[in-house]
Parts: sequence; structure tokens; C-alpha cells
Amino acid sequence: MLDIKKIGNPILRKKSIEIELTDEVRDFINEMKETMYQADGIGLAAPQVGRNERIVVIDVGAGFIALINPKITKRKGTASFSEGCLSVPNFMAKVKRSKEISVEALDENGKKINIDADGMLACCIQHEIDHLNGILFVDKISLLDKIKRKFKK
Ligand code: ZN
Repeated sequence: MLDIKKIGNPILRKKSIEIELTDEVRDFINEMKETMYQADGIGLAAPQVGRNERIVVIDVGAGFIALINPKITKRKGTASFSEGCLSVPNFMAKVKRSKEISVEALDENGKKINIDADGMLACCIQHEIDHLNGILFVDKISLLDKIKRKFKK
């Protein structure tokens, strides 16, 4: 299992670079997959395990997906789900995101794929792509929500 970097680690704040699929990268994707399942996560992005490369793995319960160099090409509506993150332990919060998205990427075999996603999957893909841009879900919580949270405690 790969070591999962936690909030505060500068690697989570760097913008990741596009990569080419090689056998070494394919092995790394397999390690990411194992790590995600072992950590009970529904998604994992490469910076979370120490590499600033544009790779994410996802399984929201509908099967495994690997996205290499993913790009969101369409967005529609808004939705919010309660989110957590393997890099931000013991914290969950609702985040406003696009309800439906289309994503273009390469899969782990180097094949170009297009995914139309909504609901939980759309939310998860957006969360993971944010990691590739150095953004954590806690950045998206409004100040008002943070204050409300504080008073609830
Ligand atoms: Zn995350």
C-alpha cells in the first residue's frame, strides 16, 4: 500500500503535469487502485500518494475507473454531496459542484474515453481532478459553513 499524504503536505498543493502511459505508470496505477481499496476510499489522485501527475482512480461502487490526463468538457447544474478525503482524515462537509459533467481522458490501457457522469460519480471525479490542480475540498467550503460548524461543536 502506498503512503497517503495528508493535508499540510506541499505536494497536495502543486499542480500536476500530464503524463504518457508507460508500463511503469501502469504499475503505479495498479498500486493506486490497491491503496484506494485498502483505505476504503472511493477515489484517489496521484498527488495524494506522492506523484504530481494527472492520474486518478475511482470506484463509487459501479466499477473501477482510471482516468489519465482527464479534462472536464461539459458541466450542467449544481449539486452537493457530503464529501470526505483520504488526505483530510475525520472530516466531512458538503461541497457545491456541477451536477452533471462530461470527462475526456485516457484509460489505463491508453484508450481515449468519454464519460458522462452525474450524481456521486460526477462529484467524485470533480473532487479528484481538483487534487490534480492542488485544490482540496476544504477550500470549497464557504466561510459561513465553517462558522456554522464551529458553533455546532
Ligand atoms: Zn480527496
